Amino acid sequence: MTSVFADARQRLQYLGHSSGISAQVIDSLSHPKATLCSSLPVLMDDGSTRYFKAYRCQYSSHLGPCKGGIRFHPNVSQDEVQALALWMTIKCAVVDLPYGGGKGGVSVDPKKLSRLELERLSRAYMRAMADFVGPDKDIPAPDVYTNARIMGWMRDEFEVIKGQKQPAVITGKPVNMGGSLGRDEATGRGAFLVTEFLRSKEGKAPEDISVAIQGFGNAGYNVAKNLFDAGYKIVAISDSKGAIYDQAGLNVDEVKAYKVSQHSFDTDYCASSVCESDTYKTISHEDLLSLDVDLLVPAALENAITISNVNTIKARWITEVANGPISAEADEILFSKGTVIIPDVLANSGGVIVSYFEWVQNKAGYPWTLEQVRERLHEKLKLSFDEMWQYQHKSENISLRYAAYAKALKKLELVIKMRGTKEYFSNAEN
Ligand code: NAD
Repeated sequence: MTSVFADARQRLQYLGHSSGISAQVIDSLSHPKATLCSSLPVLMDDGSTRYFKAYRCQYSSHLGPCKGGIRFHPNVSQDEVQALALWMTIKCAVVDLPYGGGKGGVSVDPKKLSRLELERLSRAYMRAMADFVGPDKDIPAPDVYTNARIMGWMRDEFEVIKGQKQPAVITGKPVNMGGSLGRDEATGRGAFLVTEFLRSKEGKAPEDISVAIQGFGNAGYNVAKNLFDAGYKIVAISDSKGAIYDQAGLNVDEVKAYKVSQHSFDTDYCASSVCESDTYKTISHEDLLSLDVDLLVPAALENAITISNVNTIKARWITEVANGPISAEADEILFSKGTVIIPDVLANSGGVIVSYFEWVQNKAGYPWTLEQVRERLHEKLKLSFDEMWQYQHKSENISLRYAAYAKALKKLELVIKMRGTKEYFSNAEN
């Protein structure tokens, strides 16, 4: 099986060396600082106890406390968590947040748990990690199949253990438990904004842009909704069970209404799929990825596009909402074909940016309005997008990903060198 962490590390090393980053700094960023592994005992509703493998990786704290989501999914592994934590390190540096990178997860199919079992699992995770995480050490957030309710349980468990209020220990909480307005929509909204920046650079009208979206969860739905409201033509949407297609355009509000109408109240997950509605034609997951569209938005899991299907991809632009949806090899092929890719480290950074805003509000004890959150998100993303765009345009034949990594690695290099590298101490001018 291919290692997603090896792939992520290989990309870091390639981009680091070719953008002139010192070997010692690349080496330092090639190794996670610490990963805690645990087996979580969870009391099931039938009285039995099951054990679930759990992880938390603190990849780098060079720029600040570690930051990154917690995933509940059957495929979670130490390898995957470390890759995701490495990408968080780059992402926080790309958008100038005072954070390092982290990530966590539990290997579980949460759709098979009752709500009470899910609550016990979430609390067990925080109990196992309570001495590892903290508001100034490592701040988790939601990711695939975790949500605001789960973040609220985890905050509560942490505070029970520590015996004091610590709202800034976790972000993406329910608003009435110290969450930020606009956090739930932030990842999708941010991906929409960067797509808009690209569209205005390329001078195209939204109506002339056909879009296929893989994944219809928090990130996928919110990017679909924003693009749809702005007039883009959404022709295909998928979730884990299948995909729907309409060349004339899907109505995102109707697709969402159908999906939530089948929401299971026993657990926190939708019981049905977009592809079970009678309104639209169904297609396969592979068909969705290979549609002849202007914009493809992978918003599910990593490695959606690899060497095995890259030659079927026809989209002109790709906004990477998922983390690591394109393998390093496939990325090179798409670049050589001229596909414009807004890289994950910028495209999905809206989530961590508004998580940062939440953390700031918690620390200050002063909540912001939705308008303030949206305005500041726009401002931060515009600055980071323009920097990446300008770097790419003043260099020869490099991708937007290269430009984003070059900026992030330069920033990390400065702070790593100042703490003491061979080059730093041998250069009399430092
Ligand atoms: P989510 O749990 O809300 O939704 C995941 C969606 O993916 C679901 O609709 C599921 O049905 C679908 N899915 C799973 N496997 C699929 C497949 N093979 N084909 C099509 N759809 C499939 O998760 P999310 O928070 O929306 O996360 C999605 C991606 O965005 C992940 O890569 C995550 O790391 C990334 N991301 C999320 C956030 C955030 O704030 N939630 C922030 C940054 C990045």
